[in-house]
Amino acid sequence: MSASPSDSLDRALKQYFGYDRFRPGQQGIIEASLENQDQLVIMPTGGGKSLCFQLPALLRPGVTVVVSPLIALMQDQVDSLQANGLGATFLNSTLKGVEARDRIRAVRQGDIKLLYVAPERLLSEHFLEFLSQLRSQPGLSGFAIDEAHCVSEWGHDFRPEYRQLSRLRQYYPEVPVTALTATATDRVRQDIIQQLSLKRPQVHIASFYRPNLTYEVRPKTRDSYQQIYQLIRQGGSGIIYCLSRRQVDKLADKLRQDGIEALPYHAGMSDRDRADNQTRFIRDDVQVIVATIAFGMGINKPDVRFVIHYDLPKTLEGYYQETGRAGRDGEPAQCILFLSYGDVSKVDWMISQKPDEQEQRIARQQLRQVIDYADSTECRPSILLRYFGETLSEPCQTCDNCRNPKPIEDWTVEAMKFLSCVARCQERFGVTHIIDVLRGSKKEKIKKYRHDRLSTYGIGKDRTADQWRALARTLKHRGFVDETDDGYSVLKLNALSWEIMRQQRKVEVALPRTVSALEGDRRSP
Ligand code: ADP
Ligand code: ZN
Repeated sequence: MSASPSDSLDRALKQYFGYDRFRPGQQGIIEASLENQDQLVIMPTGGGKSLCFQLPALLRPGVTVVVSPLIALMQDQVDSLQANGLGATFLNSTLKGVEARDRIRAVRQGDIKLLYVAPERLLSEHFLEFLSQLRSQPGLSGFAIDEAHCVSEWGHDFRPEYRQLSRLRQYYPEVPVTALTATATDRVRQDIIQQLSLKRPQVHIASFYRPNLTYEVRPKTRDSYQQIYQLIRQGGSGIIYCLSRRQVDKLADKLRQDGIEALPYHAGMSDRDRADNQTRFIRDDVQVIVATIAFGMGINKPDVRFVIHYDLPKTLEGYYQETGRAGRDGEPAQCILFLSYGDVSKVDWMISQKPDEQEQRIARQQLRQVIDYADSTECRPSILLRYFGETLSEPCQTCDNCRNPKPIEDWTVEAMKFLSCVARCQERFGVTHIIDVLRGSKKEKIKKYRHDRLSTYGIGKDRTADQWRALARTLKHRGFVDETDDGYSVLKLNALSWEIMRQQRKVEVALPRTVSALEGDRRSP
């Protein structure tokens, strides 16, 4: 045949999936897979990751083993592959003996191109033995690790059983591995490569920008329920995320009492009730689902018009992932986060209950990033994308901060005070301590380091702690000061800091509306 490889890929896409063209990134990933390269694929939710391992699996001899963390997710994917007449099946603990045996036989006979398994199953002695047999007949064409961020403690959904997956590389060094995730900061990315021992992987990073999503942060007040209610009444499906099961039940009940079709979804419910509620939401039997973050991984409902976080998300990554479930059809959708400092204290308390110190440090740092996001006056998508290592070329124009910019004030003098205080404290302390010194706090820690004797002690009493915090955020965001991020926030001066201190650079800040609106409610984390 004289057709070019890309022609034949296009044809395969049409033949197997009925699509006319590849989404951005898909073709390159598939080509690299066909060359047996290890790969790390980073694409936003809804970007079309599944196709990136499904199509190569169909085109290569042998079977591709897909590791996926959730049974519901496997079921969905296998159903839709089978509906297209494609050889796919899954093995998991819900199967009865006969059923499992039939599937195993089908795999051995080479009738199956895609075999889905849960990670804990994959690494059982039994299964490893089974894989070793497949290796010779019909052959193992690849491993696809879906939701690969689960391997990293730095991600938002760490699953210890994913750690074991590194052993795949030990046992089957010749089988190429494709790791896929929607959420990977640089740190998580490095972690995935290392934990899964990817060999000189091709890393594909698709843009995470979703211009049809409108981001907004509102202070959580007594009025918030009314605001949510009004929004729901405007129509369209939506997801409301809460932190606790109790809150989920309470809010779903209240909405129902007020005549809204709303159902709860959380880990305290039976698998069956949960699956039912999810299906009823997807089928538009109900308008709203109120959920803990247990909900949504892998659900594919294109017309979600709003995602509301009634409570604080635990990480910024998780937040972006959760809001990414809105507007997959490309039509406008709203993402609203309600912030209260009472919630911040609550989450902080929950973190302090974790037994592991390292876990606590990670969780605190993640919480700080969420608060920084919520308090910021910058374009919201710009902040979120920067978190994923991406730069938005211009502000989105649709988020709350773009639509209502806060008046800008010249805070160069304050910035000079702040930065010289960082210098006087020998670049060994974080924001809170620097502000304490500036505001002349009598805390024990200040005395201990004799920072009450510094020339910058008490020179910032004319500003509130919140104002100083807003300044510190601005300095950090704009790169005017560095912050080491291994859980202990320590501020470090850089070249730009010195330019400010030498009066070669101006600093302008805006006071965030969430902070000012919450004055009085403030309980510092
Ligand atoms: P992800 O796993 O990245 O969240 P999925 O793989 O579930 O995304 O794909 C999201 C949706 O996009 C699915 O409905 C899928 O069928 C569809 N899709 C994927 N690739 C294409 C394509 N090339 N053309 C049209 N639709 C596609
Ligand atoms: Zn914006």
